[in-house]
Amino acid sequence: MNYEAWVAKAAKQPMVLETVDLGPFEAEDVEIAVEHSGLCHSDLSVLNNEWGISQYPAILGHEVVGRITAVGPNAKGLKVGQRVGVGWYSGSCMHCHQCMSGSHHLCAQAQATIVGHRGGFASHIRSHWAWAIPLPEKLNFSEAGPLLCGGVTVFAPLAMHARPTDRVGIIGIGGLGHMAVKFAAAYGCAVSAFTSSESKFEEAKGFGASHVLSSKDSAAIKKLAGSFDLLISTVNVKLDWDTMIGTLAPNGRLHVVGVVLEPIPVSAFSLIAQQRSLSGSPTGSPVAIERMLDFAFTAQYRAADRALPDEQDQRGICPTSIRQGPLPHRAGRGFLIRLANEFF
Ligand code: NAP
Ligand code: ZN
Repeated sequence: MNYEAWVAKAAKQPMVLETVDLGPFEAEDVEIAVEHSGLCHSDLSVLNNEWGISQYPAILGHEVVGRITAVGPNAKGLKVGQRVGVGWYSGSCMHCHQCMSGSHHLCAQAQATIVGHRGGFASHIRSHWAWAIPLPEKLNFSEAGPLLCGGVTVFAPLAMHARPTDRVGIIGIGGLGHMAVKFAAAYGCAVSAFTSSESKFEEAKGFGASHVLSSKDSAAIKKLAGSFDLLISTVNVKLDWDTMIGTLAPNGRLHVVGVVLEPIPVSAFSLIAQQRSLSGSPTGSPVAIERMLDFAFTAQYRAADRALPDEQDQRGICPTSIRQGPLPHRAGRGFLIRLANEFF
C-alpha cells in the first residue's frame, strides 16, 4: 500500500508531497482513508514550532474525516467502510484514572495527532479505535472537519459552564470563535462577539451574535463591566485581560482555549470580590465529540463556506501553509480542505 502525505521537514518550511511509511499497524488501531481535513491554527503553530513541541518530519492535519479501510484485531465497535472523524488526539492509554472516568482528553499519555504521530494531510491516517469517532450519517461530512477539533474545543466549555439563559461573550471570531458564536446562540445564550476585525462585525451577527464590539477598544469594553456569565477566549494574542475580566458578572468565568503564549495577569481581588474564575481546557473527550456532533446537527451547523484565493488571512495563514496546493474552500476563519479531490 502506498501512502502519500504533505510532509513538513522543518519549522517554517513549505510542506512537500511524499510517499510515507505509516509504521506498524497496532492491534487496537484503525486505518482511515482521508476524505476531508480542516486546518486549525494549531496546525500552523506546530508547522512553525511556535510551542517548541514540534517533531519533524511532521504530517499536520487534525480535523480529519474519512472512511475506515482497516480494523486492527483488537479494535472495538468500528467496521471497514464506516465514516469516522479524528481530532487533536488519536490515542490515549485507556487505563489511567482519566481514561477510565471518560476524560480521555486529560490522559497524561494522550497522543496528539500531529506531534509524534502522522496527521491527516495525507491519503491515510491511523488512530486508536476509541479516538476514531463515528460520524452520524445525517451530518454533512464534507463540512464536518473543523468540528473535530475547533468545534469540540468551544462546545466543551459551553457544556461544562453555560446555561441557556447565560450571557456569553466570545473573544476572537476565527475558526474556533465563529463556531463558538453559532453553538452558544443555538444553546440559547445571549451572545456577544469581540473581534479585532472591523470586517467581521456583520459576519458575527450572521453567526448569531446579538452584540459585537472591538476586542481592542478597552473604553467600550469597560462599559460592559459586570455583564457576562461566561467569556470564551479563542485568541492567540495578548489582550487587555484586566478589562475583559472586569466584564464578568459575579460568579462569571473567563475560559481560555486560545493558546496565548504570554501569561494572562489576574489580580486576586478581581477574582475574589466577585467570586470569578479563570479556566482553560484542551479539546474534548470522545464522548464530548460525539455529543457535539449530534448538537451540531440539531443546531443545523453549516460551515461558512467561502472562496480562499487571494484572501489573505488576517494573521498570515495563507502565506505560511496554503501555497502547497489549491485549497478552494474555507470554513469561517478556519479552512476546509477537500483532500481527496484536490491533493491526491
Ligand atoms: P484563527 O482562525 O487564526 O483565529 C484566531 C483569532 O484570534 C483570529 O481570527 C482573530 O480574531 C484573533 N486574533 C488573532 N490575532 C489577533 C490580534 N493581533 N489582535 C486581536 N485578535 C487577534 O485560529 P483558530 O484555529 O480559531 O485557533 C485559535 C487558537 O486556539 C489558537 O491558538 C489555537 O492553537 C488554539 N486551539 C486550542 C485548542 C484547545 O484544545 N484548547 C484547540 C484548537 C485550537 P478577530 O479577527 O475576530 O479578532
Ligand atoms: Zn486544532
